[in-house]
Amino acid sequence: MLELKSLKKSYHQGSQTIEIFENLNFHVGEGQRVAIMGKSGSGKSTLLSLISGIIKPDDGDISLNSVSYKDLQESELNDFRAMNIGFIFQNFHLVSYLNALENVMLPAKVCNISKPREKAIKLLESVGLGHRMEHLPSQLSGGEKQRVAIARALIHNPKIILADEPSGNLDDETGNAVMDILFELIKKNNTTLILVTHSKDVANRCEKTYELLQGSLTQC
Ligand code: ADP
Ligand code: MG
Repeated sequence: MLELKSLKKSYHQGSQTIEIFENLNFHVGEGQRVAIMGKSGSGKSTLLSLISGIIKPDDGDISLNSVSYKDLQESELNDFRAMNIGFIFQNFHLVSYLNALENVMLPAKVCNISKPREKAIKLLESVGLGHRMEHLPSQLSGGEKQRVAIARALIHNPKIILADEPSGNLDDETGNAVMDILFELIKKNNTTLILVTHSKDVANRCEKTYELLQGSLTQC
């Protein structure tokens, strides 16, 4: 479903070259839930950015659902990402001037999905926020913000969700409650998940856990 082939990626900062991946190969099957662990700076966020197509590898290729990113023009890749990928971030990344409902509706509008409002209301209810739809992000708690972000990530029925430390800014109890909701929804939809986390408990919810160390992913 997701295939990374011989990926190479370095960053260039002045005269310094930071090599992140020299030859990374990785495969994730449809509906699989995979956790990625690893020290800060090991390249976990870079890996998610490569999978999303936001940054390009120096060499190698990525394909999602048999579509090779190499075969897509920039605008096609942007559309492909919008249609097929959902994102959840540690810092929520909600649009500050839009209320919860409007935030959740955003991807549905971009993807031209029918009845975005009805779908967003249903999703907000399913994450337990039916009573917070008109609140701005600044009027929501951290756990509530992440539940809005989960609803937003799922509204267009993406093939895959990329979650970068989604419970990293939440206390254990809130983080667990938010992860319960995420896993319940993605299981129901058979959504593939790649989840970066520092928490072994969160990783244990996934079928497979990999450690990213010196540019290689090793199953734990
Ligand atoms: P992680 O998410 O595992 O903490 P990152 O993927 O964010 O790691 O970063 C991996 C390494 O690459 C770090 O050493 C970081 O400083 C460096 N890095 C990340 N993004 C850039 C960039 N845009 N330019 C230069 N170096 C970067
Ligand atoms: Mg990171």
